[in-house]
Amino acid sequence: MTSKGTLSVAYIADPRLLAACDAVPVFRLRASLTHSLISAYDLLPKMSIVPSHPATEEDIRGFHSEEYVKLLQTGEPETEVEDEYGLGFDCPILPNLWDIVCRLAGGTLTAARELVEGRVKYAINWCGGWHHAQRDSASGFCYVNDIVLAIRLLRTKYEKVLYIDLDIHHGDGVENAYLFTPKVVTLSLHQLEPGYFPGSGPATETGVGKGRGYTFNVPYKSGINNKQFVHLFESILYNLCEVYLPHAVVCQCGADALAGDPLGNGNLTIEAYNTCIQHVLNLNKPTLFLGGGGYNKVNAAKLWTSITSTLLATSLAAEIPEHHFFPLYGPSFELEVTAGLRKSENTQTSINDTVKVTYDNIAKLAELLGKKTE
Ligand SMILES: [Zn+2]
Repeated sequence: MTSKGTLSVAYIADPRLLAACDAVPVFRLRASLTHSLISAYDLLPKMSIVPSHPATEEDIRGFHSEEYVKLLQTGEPETEVEDEYGLGFDCPILPNLWDIVCRLAGGTLTAARELVEGRVKYAINWCGGWHHAQRDSASGFCYVNDIVLAIRLLRTKYEKVLYIDLDIHHGDGVENAYLFTPKVVTLSLHQLEPGYFPGSGPATETGVGKGRGYTFNVPYKSGINNKQFVHLFESILYNLCEVYLPHAVVCQCGADALAGDPLGNGNLTIEAYNTCIQHVLNLNKPTLFLGGGGYNKVNAAKLWTSITSTLLATSLAAEIPEHHFFPLYGPSFELEVTAGLRKSENTQTSINDTVKVTYDNIAKLAELLGKKTE
């Protein structure tokens, strides 16, 4: 199953990791759909397929509090919800929850290890990207923050890590983990509107205390289209990296900004994501690619298969290949995700204003790092 050698992309997958991801009710089948589509497009032989090692309690304790970990280990399904720890509602205590979270976090740690040990340039865990999980509570379908755990591991080799969050929701769990420290730069692009989850992440939120200046928030309004999103991303990414000069990158590729997502209100197509991913690849740094939100599961599978092909510099046929889940791709049976007719609430002016505020924030970071900007 393992095919190493000169392959530059590690793909973390094994049946138990996929089953753990499929066990989270809101994402049921999504990991299997994604893996099957990647396989159907015959991308697996082009990658180093790495079986996932589950995380240990010690690994999870690298970020999460003792009390919260205990609850993940011992919480009984369908018992009293533990409000204080976020367990209930969108994060119910599931059967075998501890095993599930160890496998999900383990997938991302396995991917990070491939990078740290220098075996590949890029590593993928489409079962990762649980960006809302907080140190001592679950939130937004996320129980453990695999991203923070992986960044911790990456930093044993790569001092300066840039975290990029493309999910339509604010990457609040990762941001909070680094809000008070200059150790990591976080960059989250997300929809911010009254009542929209999680409600945080204005452009003016740039970190606290010693961490001030190292947090970047790029909010937008509903209905964002390809042109607006790509413009925001392109304008900011290169300028930020010229100042920060990251040694490694972690990119959360939440699929819920795609058109047709039942929880997102974005209007992106796969093309916009792939353009952004190409820019991330242009940075030419070891990079960890993770999944995230994506509640139209077929579209998430299409997106992550497409991003996998972008990492492999290969193109995919427009028609979905025949495979086990083929009937779910009807009626079009095409890889493309079409933009909807909805109007973007973002205007050229609002997008430009956001870019300007972000440029000011980048200039402040440059000052902190003792660098001059134009
Ligand atoms: Zn999301």
